[in-house]
Amino acid sequence: MTTTTVFISGANGYLAQHIIKQLLVKGYKVIGSVRSHAKGEQLTNSVKDENFSYIVIPIITHKHAFYEVLLKHPEITVFLHTASPVTFEVEDNENDLLRPAIDGTISALKAIKRYAPQMERVVITSSAGAIFGFNEYFDSDTVYNEDSWSPLSYEQSKNTSAINGYFGSKKYAELAAWEFMKEQTPSFDITVVAPVYCFGPQAYGIKDKSKLNLSMQMVNTVLTLTEDDDIPEFGNIFADIRDVARAHIVAFESDEARGQRLLVATENFTFDKIANIISNHFVNVEIPPGNLSKNERIYKLMVPRYDNSKTNRILGFDFIGIERSILDTADQLLG
Ligand code: NAP
Repeated sequence: MTTTTVFISGANGYLAQHIIKQLLVKGYKVIGSVRSHAKGEQLTNSVKDENFSYIVIPIITHKHAFYEVLLKHPEITVFLHTASPVTFEVEDNENDLLRPAIDGTISALKAIKRYAPQMERVVITSSAGAIFGFNEYFDSDTVYNEDSWSPLSYEQSKNTSAINGYFGSKKYAELAAWEFMKEQTPSFDITVVAPVYCFGPQAYGIKDKSKLNLSMQMVNTVLTLTEDDDIPEFGNIFADIRDVARAHIVAFESDEARGQRLLVATENFTFDKIANIISNHFVNVEIPPGNLSKNERIYKLMVPRYDNSKTNRILGFDFIGIERSILDTADQLLG
């Protein structure tokens, strides 16, 4: 039996590293794209596996960005597109978030259609931000599911907060992908994975604690509170990053996942819940203990209701709970 070769964009990202680790354990060959040689070398040193290699694609929005890797590697039959800006520190929502997300996705799909007729499956990482209305678009009456779309318009995403810029970048990149599939009818299928807020450790350890990705940064915000601090009143829905990575693999291995949107979501969280888990477990960490009686009020104020039973049926595995996820993350951050 020949080994399947999987391409993954944004290979040095928090999510992608977990996907790579799990793919290699399952016997796949993996080619990842990064934006510089330095990032590729650092990743290769972490992964340490002869079945992993990288290619540098400095600008994914360039119309020839994915041309070289696809022509050079006709053995690639699975394409995972995870690369997208994940930051709220931007100057211009359109240039820094929306365009790279949308144009990067379209440049990948166009290149696959043109240069990789052998491609069987394509998985695109979207976000629950494409599905739920968050923040000022929060709607407590709606029960969202895999068919729902956030009401955020392109203009609102472009002209309001960076967080709306990010959520819009995911919504409009995903919409552009479905539109491409409808208009271009390529020979491959796409599956979209739309995760909620992800927590969980880094796949290969933390390289630089001063440069945490956004997910680790959220847990670190709670971990670095002092006993006298107020815990910010924030809540949302969580999934462990290892489960989200696993969902990307099911997304291309499963026939049932063809053409589907998978809303990967495990359970609700608040910062109080995270503080409570940490303070119960790490006796030397002096943070406020977290008031669990606030949870229900916070959920009602800002946490969307959802039904992702279709996704759970397709995925067919048990999810890591918030307690294990937070403890594994905190262990790494404290280590
Ligand atoms: P991450 O660690 O910041 O990784 C993002 C990856 O995308 C990195 O490889 C990054 O490369 C690359 N990237 C960013 N901007 C880019 C650009 N303009 N051009 C090319 N590559 C670019 O974030 P992550 O959490 O792993 O996110 C991975 C995917 O999951 C994203 O699509 C994100 O929207 C989605 N997601 C994440 C979460 C979460 O809670 N973490 C939840 C829902 C969805 P550099 O290192 O060179 O910047």
